[in-house]
Amino acid sequence: MSRHRASGPMLAEPCIEATAAPPSGTVTELFGNTELERLRGMVLAFPRTAHRLLNERHAPDAVVRYTLRAEAALRLDSLREAMTLASAAVDHAMREEPVDPGRLLPAVTVLADAAVVAGAPDAVRSCMDLAGLASKFGDQHRLIVAAGLHAVAVFQQHSCREARHLLDQIGHTCTDGVIVTAISLACDTVTACCARRGQPHWPPPKLPVITAGGLVQPALTAPFLPDRFLRWPGVHDCSSTAG
Ligand SMILES: [Zn+2]
Repeated sequence: MSRHRASGPMLAEPCIEATAAPPSGTVTELFGNTELERLRGMVLAFPRTAHRLLNERHAPDAVVRYTLRAEAALRLDSLREAMTLASAAVDHAMREEPVDPGRLLPAVTVLADAAVVAGAPDAVRSCMDLAGLASKFGDQHRLIVAAGLHAVAVFQQHSCREARHLLDQIGHTCTDGVIVTAISLACDTVTACCARRGQPHWPPPKLPVITAGGLVQPALTAPFLPDRFLRWPGVHDCSSTAG
């Protein structure tokens, strides 16, 4: 189990065995001691390499392989591929008996995130599906991620004011400093988007930041929601002066 995941007691943990002895030297120091930790680190730092290496030999576990490949594809802005791979991960995880939320929820999170980044018509529903599953399994981290992504999807497809209201609700229910800061930054991003409404929209030139709530980064990060809010122009029903 990684140090990362051990820090979140309410996070659903996957039951994954290491599949190979850890190598020695700097690669281990950089990416961790287990095969899963090394693959996670590679997706984060070298998504193109990870995408190439994530085959059955390096990641024989189909749920892990499809989820990590989806995360790498999303990082590379290959959104249709990310959605296809994440759907495959969800299908494999759903067929397991019993269902392991620590394996299912990261896949469902990546699927919802890919739908949001792609601006897919069913993005709102995908986020609500994720929220329902996170609530059912008591995964507080992914419940927050789901609520944030839902706000982004609502911003994209329905209403900036409603999205702002959803963010405020998250902020009011959380006391964790990291989450409060992340939600505050998301609110600032919506406000800035509202101030620029009517102007041509340019998505961020950088590739999408790593999915929050996936296998690589299980919890919400500060840059995640601002990055997602900036991907699409949004539907503005705000006043002329603010969001
Ligand atoms: Zn607005």
